[in-house]
Amino acid sequence: MEQFDFDLERIFKIIKDKKCKNIGLQFPEGLKRQAIDIAGQIEAGTGVSVIISGNPCFGACDIDTVLAGAVDILFHFGHSKMGRYDNVIFIEMRSKVDVLPAVKTALPLLKTKKIGLVTTVQHIHKLDEVSNFLRNNGKEPVIGKGDLRVVYPGQVLGCNFTAARIDCEEYLYVGSGFFHPLGVAIATGKRVIAADPYLNLAQEVSPEKFLRRRSGYIAKAMDAKVFGIIVSTKSGQNRMTLAKRLLEIAHKHGITAQIIMMDIVTPEQLLGFKIDAYVNTACPRITIDDSERFHVPVLTPAEFEITLGERKWETLEMDEILEGTE
Ligand code: SF4
Repeated sequence: MEQFDFDLERIFKIIKDKKCKNIGLQFPEGLKRQAIDIAGQIEAGTGVSVIISGNPCFGACDIDTVLAGAVDILFHFGHSKMGRYDNVIFIEMRSKVDVLPAVKTALPLLKTKKIGLVTTVQHIHKLDEVSNFLRNNGKEPVIGKGDLRVVYPGQVLGCNFTAARIDCEEYLYVGSGFFHPLGVAIATGKRVIAADPYLNLAQEVSPEKFLRRRSGYIAKAMDAKVFGIIVSTKSGQNRMTLAKRLLEIAHKHGITAQIIMMDIVTPEQLLGFKIDAYVNTACPRITIDDSERFHVPVLTPAEFEITLGERKWETLEMDEILEGTE
């Protein structure tokens, strides 16, 4: 298991400076195994009483506001700051993994000179090192600044690729997983090489298979008589204005549609409704990551517009939550 730095010294100092009596801890799913140990260390180090959030947590958009309301400070681990909260402190986690071996593997795959660099917050402190390496190897690295939903230049989220909208010829993504590099490829229409520092692997991301699957869902949704438009109750994912606009489009086309508000969007939660297809305005990753587990098609807002003939397939874009739209 990868070792992360939980920044306990900083947490101890904040607790002491603010004279906290009780605090909350919120961990993303991947770090929950360490929650009991971290809580114990904080209790022993400061004498404060600790409550751990047991709710699922997948991003900085997903603050446990009930717990935050019950404690002096809620420490939210693993994500960079998003939104405005009086008593929530974001403890970003930096990976200690060396990214250069994977970047070296990626170098021969980069065909052009001007390379856009993107990564997730876990590796953001390595971007300068990667830039220097590329520059020393005849490349011209470019790092873009995203909107206010992201904190650091070059940082992308599963719902925000604004830092990738830069003048470059192709991209190098540093990090694990397929979602972020795929998102960059679809959001920009340019070539993306993904360098995975955990596997020391580098490969070109190819969106074709993904797009074929999405066109299959659109084709299925064309037969739908009733649509559900999912809106999240999570503050950082709530896109009610968008949902209402989609509802209007549905009505314009004589389609029955209802807005459904929910906290956690899972295939099981949707099973009870007699609905032929959904449009998801909550976290965009749900639409993609869980697509095969849903019993009916779940579309992105842009795919819904294509289904109803309001948009052409060629203009399909990655679903993003941009600054000010949540
Ligand atoms: S909306 Fe989804 S992708 Fe965006 S920050 Fe939240 S969990 Fe991550």
